[in-house]
Amino acid sequence: MHTPAATTLTPSRREFTVPPDRNTIITIDGPAGTGKSTVARELASRIGLDFLDTGAMYRAAAAIVIDFGIDQRDIDAIVSKVASADLHFDWAADPPTILAWDKPIDHRIRDADVTAIVSPIAGIGKLREHMVRKQRIIANQHPRLVSEGRDQGSVVFPDADVKFYLDAEPAVRAARRAEQLRAEGRTVNVDRLLADIIARDHSDSTREDGPLVCPEDAVVIDTSTLSRDGVIQRLEDEVRVRISL
Ligand code: C5P
Repeated sequence: MHTPAATTLTPSRREFTVPPDRNTIITIDGPAGTGKSTVARELASRIGLDFLDTGAMYRAAAAIVIDFGIDQRDIDAIVSKVASADLHFDWAADPPTILAWDKPIDHRIRDADVTAIVSPIAGIGKLREHMVRKQRIIANQHPRLVSEGRDQGSVVFPDADVKFYLDAEPAVRAARRAEQLRAEGRTVNVDRLLADIIARDHSDSTREDGPLVCPEDAVVIDTSTLSRDGVIQRLEDEVRVRISL
């Protein structure tokens, strides 16, 4: 009788999915242009979680301020108008589309005029309180979530199961942003993008409410020399270790 020889199998990299009965919050914070949105979205899809882009919420608020001609110093008018928009997401779309007054606003939120004022708008304490509340409500409705932003691990979900902080050299971040904008068919001035990124970093890190900080218990990843896939694999590996504990 033929007995098959014992073979040694080299363990291959299996994709990891968070067990379906396990609610899990993963936060990904970091400055502009680290590729957070792209990798957060891909990670969420790989491991079977929903994806929340909190930057889209602040961008939608900035778009509303501009489009309704609201004075940027009129905090009450800003908060009340943004609250009336009831910002939420259409989760049937991938990535989820942000809606204001039940209508998509995603086509507007990455325009240059919105990007130019989003950081000061996001610095309004009362608006941040509103957004933090909304983000926690979303997490209640979507308790298996990868949430990406600036304050997700530090303020909004301090008890998150896994926290990441992504960083990269400013010049690398400007080059990535340029590539992204070119792919969208937009005109690009890399020097200007770099200056804007540095200014936004400063403004995001020095504001009083919800500043960009690296949570103490975050896994820090410098993405400067990593490919997009390399970053996603690194995130997945870290989640696998932490979630299977
Ligand atoms: O991530 P994104 O570049 O789209 O974010 C746009 C802006 O929204 C950031 O520069 C920051 O000022 C603000 N933001 C924030 N808190 C978050 C997410 C974004 O203040 N959680």
